[in-house]
Amino acid sequence: MFTFHSIQDYHKALSEGLCSCEDAVRHYLDRIAAHKHLNAYIQVYGDEALEKARSLDAKRRAGGSTGALHGVIIGLKDVLAYKDHPLTAASRILFNFKSIYHATAVEKLLREEAILIGHLNCDEFAMGSTNENSAYGKVLNARDLTKVPGGSSGGSAVAVQAGLCMASLGSDTGGSVRQPADFCGILGLKPTYGRVSRYGLIAYASSFDQIGIFGNTVPDVAAILDVIAGEDDFDSTVATDKTATFSDLDTPAAAKYRIAYFKEALTHPGLDPEIRDTLLDCLDQLRNDGHTVEAVDFDLLDYIVPAYYVLTTAEASSNLARFDGVKYGYRTHDSQLELTEFYKRSRSEGFGREVKRRILLGTFVLSAGYYDAYFTKAQQVRKMLVDRTELIFKEFDIIILPTSPTTAFTIGEKMDDPIAMYLADIYTVYANLVGIPGISIPLFTHTNGMPFGMQAMTSRFKELSLLQFSHLIMQQYKSYENPTLCD
Ligand code: GLN
Repeated sequence: MFTFHSIQDYHKALSEGLCSCEDAVRHYLDRIAAHKHLNAYIQVYGDEALEKARSLDAKRRAGGSTGALHGVIIGLKDVLAYKDHPLTAASRILFNFKSIYHATAVEKLLREEAILIGHLNCDEFAMGSTNENSAYGKVLNARDLTKVPGGSSGGSAVAVQAGLCMASLGSDTGGSVRQPADFCGILGLKPTYGRVSRYGLIAYASSFDQIGIFGNTVPDVAAILDVIAGEDDFDSTVATDKTATFSDLDTPAAAKYRIAYFKEALTHPGLDPEIRDTLLDCLDQLRNDGHTVEAVDFDLLDYIVPAYYVLTTAEASSNLARFDGVKYGYRTHDSQLELTEFYKRSRSEGFGREVKRRILLGTFVLSAGYYDAYFTKAQQVRKMLVDRTELIFKEFDIIILPTSPTTAFTIGEKMDDPIAMYLADIYTVYANLVGIPGISIPLFTHTNGMPFGMQAMTSRFKELSLLQFSHLIMQQYKSYENPTLCD
């Protein structure tokens, strides 16, 4: 029987002839079929994946060179363009739309011989924290079917959690990789803004969006980042300085980190006391292990969620203007309407409730009379956050925060209270506002039975250091030998 622990072990087994890429694809297709109730996949490309696996097996057996992700089976959040395949952003407005080109990240995965097994469910246009805002229905958390998987990349998280692919890609505008990783008990990395090209990623808020990675081990996440990071002629915001090899994970045994945590974050009334105490214990342990751990004052904490929701909805209202029923995607069936009414009707029928709410909010904060009161103010807060963060990283290497104030919500719990849902993003939106990389490291299990993680962040473009730290922590606090597969 095929089992997967890490890309490295899989590659070893392939080279020793102990398994084939085809065995691996069959294994995942069987598991996907057996876990349909989780609703993680919107599309499964089974025949294609098998065909690709057979051609990779033939090439390898003939002694041909192999790509860095040879035969690695990856699922894509349904906001990433995969040429000639459906692309919907889990929205009715893109029903029947097929992508005519590859996202750069997808192209890079294919170049290194990854097998793309399907498109994964998510919140519509990546807006949400529970995956309940999908035109394809909600996704269930495999650990407890009454709980949400988190969002917006809920399908990508559950696919890794439940062993329905080896790793997956998601997008993170305000936590959509780290928070579902936290709720599902796996690793979720959001790289620095500009580390991975956004070309071919359906835009939600362009100055925040970043493609992220879900996996079970730090080396797997690093290996995928190595492939998808770096320069791209189609995205002028991508950093050109990719010199590090992210897979270079071993740190000297004596490596000591200077770690900061925000006092206000851990005393916040919304934070589950058990999560707080567990993180404080973990910070104590790090201190005992010789790292410097200090609480820093961060009085801007209460401004970050409002600033995030003002700026991202403003950007979204502009980005989503292109979905007008004319150029592509869903169009109202009433063909007798005059143009403005036709736009209105197509958009009203095509977008879901949360997306409409955000377009309205974004249009409002950008309107002439309110622009300065909301949009300009939020930009000022963003600048203050960036400046404060730079000061912190002059003295510290790592910032630690919870990933989410609670473990996974019960399905339906927050759907009637969007403000409560937004406020739960308090610990993740910070990294997107300031552009730094963040990771949710799956370390703990709550007495309620659900997993939760610890969020670590470094300054911009220090992913290597972030991954090395995560590797160290995973090795010291969690065994790789028992990947907790959820059935
Ligand atoms: N939960 C956040 C939101 O609803 C994050 C979304 C994201 O990162 N795509 O905006």
